[in-house]
Amino acid sequence: MYRSILVPIDISETDLTRHVVPQVQAHAKTAKVHFLAVIPTVPFYASLGLAYSTEFPDRSGLQAKASEKLEEIIKQFNIPAGRSQTHVVYGPPKDQILKLAEAVDAELIIIASHKPGFSTYLLGSTAAAVVRHAKCPVLVVR
Ligand code: ADP
Repeated sequence: MYRSILVPIDISETDLTRHVVPQVQAHAKTAKVHFLAVIPTVPFYASLGLAYSTEFPDRSGLQAKASEKLEEIIKQFNIPAGRSQTHVVYGPPKDQILKLAEAVDAELIIIASHKPGFSTYLLGSTAAAVVRHAKCPVLVVR
């Protein structure tokens, strides 16, 4: 039985999440489930030279909104209270996923393969990097 499972959620793609729900429920019987949403804005805004300007969206406001959305999305998993935890961080998604996996001692990462509509054989760039670099098993949901 797993004690700690990490489920990264792309909050801009709610359709992806639907596919991982049954897999998470099947594997998370007694585990603590860590849901992670990464806000991938930093390099993007920095490349536009906006990082320190007033045009850069307020960080804590964005984070609060992302948290709200993540909480809404994870309701469909029906994880008993106290066994799930949400995390919202900034940065490159793949790096942050791998970092949190270590921080929470994840024994399994459950991730969707890619956005819907692409080839079934494709692994998205985040999913591919996580599969390649994770130190624990990764379940890729198609
Ligand atoms: P695509 O390139 O088709 O978008 P990705 O590899 O980025 O595919 O996404 C596959 C999975 O990676 C998502 O379902 C999610 O589990 C995870 N993921 C991608 N982006 C993020 C993000 N910003 N925060 C958390 N998880 C993410």
